[in-house]
Amino acid sequence: MNQQHPSMEVMCHVHNCKFNENDYCFAPKLEVNPLQGSGASNSKEALCTTFQPR
Ligand code: SF4
Repeated sequence: MNQQHPSMEVMCHVHNCKFNENDYCFAPKLEVNPLQGSGASNSKEALCTTFQPR
């Protein structure tokens, strides 16, 4: 089956995010962006911008 978008299980330990349940992300869609500009040098510069505090 050809899917337009991939889907995957996302494990996340940001427990105060409203999408987090038992260490998994239940957001309908996840967006990750670089801290600044259009690229990241390491994982600290790649941020989940879907995060919303509970
Ligand atoms: S939206 Fe981001 S921070 Fe929140 S549970 Fe999902 S991956 Fe974690």
